[in-house]
Amino acid sequence: MKTDFRRTKIIFTVGPATESEEMLEKLIRGGVDIARLNMAHANHDWVRTVMRRIRAVGERVGRDIAILMDIKGPEIRTGDVSTPLVLKAGETFDFTVKPGADRENAEEVRSVDVNYRDLVNDIRVGDTVLVDNGLIRLEVLEKHDAHIRCRVLIPGELKSRRHINLPGVKVNLPSLTDKDRADTLAGLAEGLDFVALSFVRTAGDIAELRTFLAEHKSKARIIAKIEDQSGITHLEDIVRASDGVMIARGDLGIECPFEELPIIQRRAVRACLANSRPVIVATHMLESMISQPMPTRAEITDVANAVYELADCVMLSGETTVGQYPVECVQILDKVARRIEVEDDGEVREVAVFTGDRMKMLHSAAVLANQLPDSKILTFTRHGFMAHGLAALRPVHAPILAFTPHAQLFRQLRLLRAVEPFLMPLANEPDATIENAITVLKQAGRIAPGDKLIVATDILSLDRLVDSVQLRTVR
Ligand code: PEP
Repeated sequence: MKTDFRRTKIIFTVGPATESEEMLEKLIRGGVDIARLNMAHANHDWVRTVMRRIRAVGERVGRDIAILMDIKGPEIRTGDVSTPLVLKAGETFDFTVKPGADRENAEEVRSVDVNYRDLVNDIRVGDTVLVDNGLIRLEVLEKHDAHIRCRVLIPGELKSRRHINLPGVKVNLPSLTDKDRADTLAGLAEGLDFVALSFVRTAGDIAELRTFLAEHKSKARIIAKIEDQSGITHLEDIVRASDGVMIARGDLGIECPFEELPIIQRRAVRACLANSRPVIVATHMLESMISQPMPTRAEITDVANAVYELADCVMLSGETTVGQYPVECVQILDKVARRIEVEDDGEVREVAVFTGDRMKMLHSAAVLANQLPDSKILTFTRHGFMAHGLAALRPVHAPILAFTPHAQLFRQLRLLRAVEPFLMPLANEPDATIENAITVLKQAGRIAPGDKLIVATDILSLDRLVDSVQLRTVR
């Protein structure tokens, strides 16, 4: 079953498998909405080159997508190793915070550096150290001035710059590091649309990034990555402080007991819906497709679950950075999302409850749309409020056709479920703006004579602008 419109948006991560012009074109034509740059693996030259390439390809194919930079926040990583170290079960192994400092039995016990000086203060004997997304597990045996000594519980191969998780440990690192600031500035210089902050622990972390963006006169929107226990504890406040949330299941699944993951995902999606914030379900959605052309049944069901939960976006990471089948991954997300969206019967949804009169009026537009199954919602948005409000109400069938005069907002609207953005200057007369939009939509084949449009916008009444919800039949 193919519908004319996919409500769930697709984010893909750019990497060696997809950074070429040819692949970007295939993915943009294939329907991706947002490109993610993961700053764990990128330098500023690459950021500039890839951002310019994405914009150029978008312009050439007539489909401008948004760009999201994922900055790493207080991330702990191992240092470089000249060749991978094979850690064996039961082996004693050290993590050093002062490279070159003396260690007892240094000739027998192998070690790797860690970029976190306070590790020796914050960790306790008996705590767990997880390396490389939890693939290698160690237990802390001893703490010293310059290193911790551990026992390997789950063996594995340790390569350079691997990510470390310390479940339950309150990490004493700044939420926005110097590297994050420098990375963000490199992105802002190229017109970045979203910044995703990793390991957000409290709403204050978001406020700090917001201040930084304001100081640099940026309108980039902030996505809070929920990926550890502190983020879960402060979930509601973080949701309200952010412009959107990413449920970063890779780290979450390590930092929390894995059986809690589906519960946290559902809770986070609901918190976003209730607070009118977009939400992204990320990581391992089609992991097996890194090396296989078809997803597992469980992966299909996981994608479907995110769509049933009414998430705004699903996200690809390794599948499109290093995977062998990035285009196929996008096709599969597209196909599954379209099919499951048809199943939405409007039942059991806890959506945003607005307090302001203007936003309450949007609610009446969404209710009307639900009662007219073939209708489409048309709105005009200068700051994004109308489009965000309507998207948060999760109309069951109607797409939200959102016109804005601002190029960056146009791209940012790609994040929102069921919102189809259009870039168009708005006329001085609201009525002329509506007529212009109808012409654009007819030309784009998005509406045809006889279609019902629910128009949520300002109109001129005598000499005043008043809010309105109108029902029009396209002529
Ligand atoms: C995740 O942990 O799921 C995630 C998206 O973050 P990263 O890719 O930085 O690990």
